[in-house]
Amino acid sequence: MKKKCKRCGREFEAIRRDVECCSTLCRLTLFKNRPAERKGVERICPECGKTFLHNGTRKIYCGKECAYGAKKRGERERERMSKLWS
Ligand SMILES: [Zn+2]
Ligand SMILES: [Zn+2]
Repeated sequence: MKKKCKRCGREFEAIRRDVECCSTLCRLTLFKNRPAERKGVERICPECGKTFLHNGTRKIYCGKECAYGAKKRGERERERMSKLWS
């Protein structure tokens, strides 16, 4: 039967009904892209309070600036604490 490839849109002759792609390459690409889409979870940046999407990574902040800002603040905090103890 004639089917349209889910990834590249090309028509191809499918041997089985559940075949979705014209080639192994297309199938692998589609498969690889899928989990990333599903893993796009919203997370709230603790630094600026904005929501951002992260793709299953351990990213905590929305961007470099926030990560940097949090790091800077942490350093200042540590400095303050060390002054208290000395
Ligand atoms: Zn294809
Ligand atoms: Zn942020």
